[in-house]
Amino acid sequence: MKYVRFFTPDGNVRYGILDNDFVTPFAGSWYEGDTEDSVRYALDDIRLLCPVEFSKAVCIGLNYARHAEELEMQKPAAPVVFIKPYTCAIGPEDEIIHPAMSKRIDFEAELAVVMGRDAKNVPIADAYTYVLGYTIANDVTARDLQEKGGQWTICKGFDTFLPMGPYISDEIDPENVLIESFVNGEPRQKGNTRDMIFDIPHLISYISSVMTLKKGDVILTGTPKGIGGMEKGDVVECVIEGLGRLRNRNA
Ligand code: MG
Repeated sequence: MKYVRFFTPDGNVRYGILDNDFVTPFAGSWYEGDTEDSVRYALDDIRLLCPVEFSKAVCIGLNYARHAEELEMQKPAAPVVFIKPYTCAIGPEDEIIHPAMSKRIDFEAELAVVMGRDAKNVPIADAYTYVLGYTIANDVTARDLQEKGGQWTICKGFDTFLPMGPYISDEIDPENVLIESFVNGEPRQKGNTRDMIFDIPHLISYISSVMTLKKGDVILTGTPKGIGGMEKGDVVECVIEGLGRLRNRNA
């Protein structure tokens, strides 16, 4: 299934199922329970939002060997973990705001895992049973601030630095999909999720052994080689096989 969170034409936020350019809303306030099958919205009549509200986005750095190489950083022996707050989140077509503090902001196309239920101390073998589905994320980064301060909360934590969407799907094989990014239509990154250093079950098990992953929480699984900067006015698109295209403009 494909899941979306959206503004209705009269301005209400709903969760729904996307099927062939039409959305059927869930009766409740999340992706669970019954749908209101008497109500149907055309995709053209609604505005898609960041597809989930979360308590935390847990992000993995340097999870593709060739990306670690391009940053001249060591391939990690354990997952490199940081957190983006919810105030970073924006949806498809929303604008990424270029902060005055930074002279260079970068795109990082990533596969995002969305948790379907609370998870604590999850064994690797059970990890996928906690997942609702997958979506596209752009781990926007103020690259020139990354070395300052010794950790990454500032360089990755600005408002609007986490575009996500357009929908969540449980119909892909997350261990073998193409990830690409484009700036103004020109290809930049091209990788495959099979090249992750730490795979998704390992990450869910590892993170949940530290902190409870709440229903709706998101794990960003790292970015492949080919990152680069964006200028004001640039349009960045992150594309993952089976998950559509996440498009945002830099303001
Ligand atoms: Mg990243």
